[in-house]
This record gives sequence, structure tokens and C-alpha cells, in this order.
Amino acid sequence: SGKFFVGGNWKCNGTKDSISKLVSDLNSATLESDVDVVVAPPFVYLDQVKNSLTDRIEIAAQNCWTGKGGAFTGEISVEQLKDLGCKWVVLGHSERRHIIGETDKFIGTKAAYALSQNLGVIACIGELLEEREAGKTFDVCFQHMKAFADAVPSWDNIVIAYEPVWAIGTGKVATPEQAQEVHVAVRDWLSKNVSAEVASKTRIIYGGSVNGGNCAELAKQEDIDGFLVGGASLKGPEFATIINSVT
Ligand code: 13P
Repeated sequence: SGKFFVGGNWKCNGTKDSISKLVSDLNSATLESDVDVVVAPPFVYLDQVKNSLTDRIEIAAQNCWTGKGGAFTGEISVEQLKDLGCKWVVLGHSERRHIIGETDKFIGTKAAYALSQNLGVIACIGELLEEREAGKTFDVCFQHMKAFADAVPSWDNIVIAYEPVWAIGTGKVATPEQAQEVHVAVRDWLSKNVSAEVASKTRIIYGGSVNGGNCAELAKQEDIDGFLVGGASLKGPEFATIINSVT
């Protein structure tokens, strides 16, 4: 449902030099036209990337503040991200939930504010390994979904990223069936709790050890509408392969 969407989350990686090389690899790659492509560099390189990257690819931030800027030391406001040309922000990423300790409520506040300023939200959800093993995968994903749904006025500018925490950075990708099963459940949740229209229109992308070798099988699944890629998005040619896995 919707146009295939592939995001590259560069996380806390790169230098001016390595990013300049990655941007030039992306600029020279041949990308399928029917795919939305977004990269999320670290804040400090957003301006460099925006000024050197082809307009074919949009830029996203990896986080933002909960409201208007001001006396919030160390934070970056939505207005500042828009000023640099960002179209999207990644929110609710597992590294921010589990390493930094962000709560559903805090994430929801950010999502609502970003949307109010016309910044698109890549809303991340997903369970820990122990939660999957305890049979709580759907409960956890639905709880994350509810926090977003309770906070946001509209789903027009949101892409959901299902990222099982046990698959992130581990090389242990979810099987196409495991991912598809959760994507269907999340779509069903949207249908029951938001609307059938939002359920059918909202893109649900998968993240967690996606690479050039496993993307094609995942992309074939009916409810996988794209990917959020970490490690493999730091390599231009491999990221292009993932983008071009659109079916
Ligand atoms: P990896 O692709 O490195 O597993 O990271 C996935 C991710 O967290 C994207 O946001």
C-alpha cells in the first residue's frame, strides 16, 4: 500500500569525509523512480548532506525536540530541521527508547509537534527479544501504536517502521513471514483503532539487519511497504540495491 519507502538511518556514524564519499556514491547510483528515498544523517552533517545530495533523495533527522526551540540546551527544534531542508524525522527508534530511555509519552509529544509543523514522522515500533519469546510481540507493538495514535491528529504524514529490537544491528533479520505477520497485525490495529482508510494508505516499512542479500525476499511480502536500513545504508551501492528491490 502506497509508494515503496526506503530510509537510510546513518545513526551516529560518519565524518565529513566519509559522508562526502557516501553522498557522491548515492548521487551516481541509478534508483528506481517509483520509490521514496530518505536518508537520516547525524544532525551535524544535515547541512552538508542537504547541500551536496541529489534532490532525488530527501533528508530526515534522527530526533527532534518536543516543541518550539528556546532554552533547551543540547536540543534541536523542528523549526531548525525545517530550516535545513528536512522533510522527515525518525521518532521512537529503539535505541532512543532503550538506551536513552525515551517514553511513549515523550515520543508522542514530539510526533504531534513535528506533524503540526509539517515535518513527516517515521514512527518506529518493535519488541525486545524477551518480549517476543514471552509471546508479547503484538502487545508491545500495539502499545507503541496507541501512544502515537493518542498523540497525533492525522496519519497523513506518518510512515510506520516495524523494527524488532532483536534484529537491529545483529545480523539476525526477521524472516519475511515474521515481518509480514506483524505488519498485518499493525495494519489491522490501525483499521480497528483509527480507520480502514488510514490502515490501507499508511506505509509500514521493516527495519532490522536489512541488506542487499535479504531485501528482495522481504520486499515481496504484501504488507512490507519499504525498509528502514541502518548499517547497509552506509554503503552507497548496497543501499541502492535495497531501494531497487521494490517489486
Ligand atoms: P540495522 O540495519 O543496522 O540492523 O539497523 C536498523 C535500524 O535500526 C534502522 O533504524
